[in-house]
Amino acid sequence: MVVFCDECGERYIIENNEIKEKVVIINCTICHNLIKISLPDRDVKNRPGSRITRG
Ligand SMILES: [Zn+2]
Repeated sequence: MVVFCDECGERYIIENNEIKEKVVIINCTICHNLIKISLPDRDVKNRPGSRITRG
């Protein structure tokens, strides 16, 4: 996956096997901006029919 720094536009390539958590934070080596990447949750599916009912 390719990520661009918001501040300076530096490009970073993250290997998929390096991604172990849902949120990845990269410290830009050019401008020291913290690039925060939120990954979509593949394991948990949104089911609109499932609700918690109070009982
Ligand atoms: Zn940067």
